[in-house]
Amino acid sequence: MTHPLLLAGARANLVFHDVSESRSRYAVTSGLVLEIAERLRESGLSQSVRFYLDDGLASALPAAALLRDHYPEVEVVVALTVSTIGRKGYLSLTEAREMCSWGVAIAGHGYQHVRLASYRDGIACPTPHEGEYGPAPSTGDPQLSSNEVLYQLIETRDALQGLTRSEFVLPYGAYNRDVLSINERHQVFDTVSSSDYGWDLGGELRPRLLVTRDIAAGEIPALLASPSPRSAPR
Ligand SMILES: [Zn+2]
Repeated sequence: MTHPLLLAGARANLVFHDVSESRSRYAVTSGLVLEIAERLRESGLSQSVRFYLDDGLASALPAAALLRDHYPEVEVVVALTVSTIGRKGYLSLTEAREMCSWGVAIAGHGYQHVRLASYRDGIACPTPHEGEYGPAPSTGDPQLSSNEVLYQLIETRDALQGLTRSEFVLPYGAYNRDVLSINERHQVFDTVSSSDYGWDLGGELRPRLLVTRDIAAGEIPALLASPSPRSAPR
């Protein structure tokens, strides 16, 4: 039976963070990543699902290498935050370029790893219009002004020029309507990727499913059978 995702002509996107044996909630083992790729291949879905490795962690390099070796049909995207490139535990620019040469795509993931929109009681607040063009305050959980949002978009694009395709992965999946319209108005990125699950029908706002180690590999093809089974946990 053809999987509903294929019948719909849609794609799906899975998000991983640290691929390691760490006990942190967002860490998954490379064994789980490969098993998910295998289950997707068995379901005929591996060409229709992208694997994102967020945050530019050093562990993305061996994970991407394994995927390229064993599942070359799976599109792999690494999302880099400019301010952490080359820091301890993170990918360097040289490593990112090497991964590009293997066919890995690079997306921007902020100049800093900050929320582009704030939330109150689970609802995204509008972006304040005042503010100077500059980086986000480095303390607390700041509410960015429209010019600070623009800074995150433009400086990410410019710092990664020649390396990235035109895609911005929202840190923490956080956004509001203002963030999307700032990006559109200034034509910074073609695609903005969230952490809300849904089928990817090629729109400007790209849905993605957050994968934690609580998900069993065998569950994934069934999860992707529904256009929007639930919002992925943040
Ligand atoms: Zn992130």
